[in-house]
Amino acid sequence: MSPDLRIPAELLPRDGRFGSGPSKLPVSHLDALAATGTALMGTSHRQQPVRSLVGQVKAQLTELFSPPDGYEVVFGVGGSTAFWDVATYGLVAERSQHLVYGEFTGKFATAATAAPWLADPSLVRGQPGTLAQPRAESGVDAYAWAHNETSTGVMAPVRRVDGADHGALVLVDATSGAGGLPVDLAQADCYYFAPQKGFASDGGLWVALMSPAAIERAQRIGASGRYVPAFFDLPTAIENSRKDQTYNTPAVATLFLMGEQLRWMLELGGLEATVARTRASSDTLYGWAERCAWARPFVSDPAARSLVVGTLDLDETIDYEEILAVLRANGILDCDPYRKLGRNQLRIAMFPAVDPDDIAALTRCLDWVVDRL
Ligand SMILES: *Cc1c(COP(=O)(O)O)cnc(C)c1O
Repeated sequence: MSPDLRIPAELLPRDGRFGSGPSKLPVSHLDALAATGTALMGTSHRQQPVRSLVGQVKAQLTELFSPPDGYEVVFGVGGSTAFWDVATYGLVAERSQHLVYGEFTGKFATAATAAPWLADPSLVRGQPGTLAQPRAESGVDAYAWAHNETSTGVMAPVRRVDGADHGALVLVDATSGAGGLPVDLAQADCYYFAPQKGFASDGGLWVALMSPAAIERAQRIGASGRYVPAFFDLPTAIENSRKDQTYNTPAVATLFLMGEQLRWMLELGGLEATVARTRASSDTLYGWAERCAWARPFVSDPAARSLVVGTLDLDETIDYEEILAVLRANGILDCDPYRKLGRNQLRIAMFPAVDPDDIAALTRCLDWVVDRL
């Protein structure tokens, strides 16, 4: 280990946080939170200040994603992991299909497989670093995949499945993709995420943009007599969200910080502008990696290389842990690969909050460090 290498200050990024979640959170948002003083934190979530905040975030998300008429923004507590259970309880009628091409897509598939009230799901697997394509199958009433597979840095298109049964839903885990990848919400029935990745906030909540068909499905299952624990009950979450509330106490600071980031995103020019930013960052990162003698993009298909989470395989002569130690000692944090993938790799988040100039600076730092190891 050589963590005593000192990267020259002029090479360093202005902000050294490149983690894929929790991700870089602008310090100005924390200042804005502190400035709310006694007005928000520590007050009842059933009263106007917190309810206005929920209403504000709903309106901001609607503006950012411009969903078709009738789509609703629904909130709940517990993050995206809780939402997988919400969906197995309340959105899958009988059988789902899961595209499994990494850890996160795998976890939802595992939840659906374990649910005794559902038929065993159809699984379509892709090797890590590649995509899997949905296959229309009769009897499948929900198709599930991730907009961005955070464990591998693969992004997937969001589009309806040709030939699927009438009424089959498309459920997209956009936990790391939302806000940084282009999307047409008409192509999905449930586009769900948590605020600690693309929205530069903290964890603890799930957010779902739901189509009228998804809401109708949730209500139909809710009325069917299926046992659903209250915490995972989707009709309850829908009903509360309509009143700018959550069923149980929300993470208020998380909502506030997300609202600040959404304000910044909308002022920047909305989704088109945030995607231009992630595109600039990822062009820089992959362009550099393709020229680099000791690193290369892990995802071989350029069209599947994520704009928001870049994975780079390293030459076997280089030890990623050694690089990470030097980076960390120099204030550059969390470029770790997803552990379970088990590769000699760096993984770099390029969410909208990350400055494309800082990605360029990171590549210069990496060159400098590897020259000296
Ligand atoms: C991080 C992540 C999750 C898990 O989110 P939590 O809020 O921690 O439960 C799920 N799916 C994807 C694609 C993720 O990146």
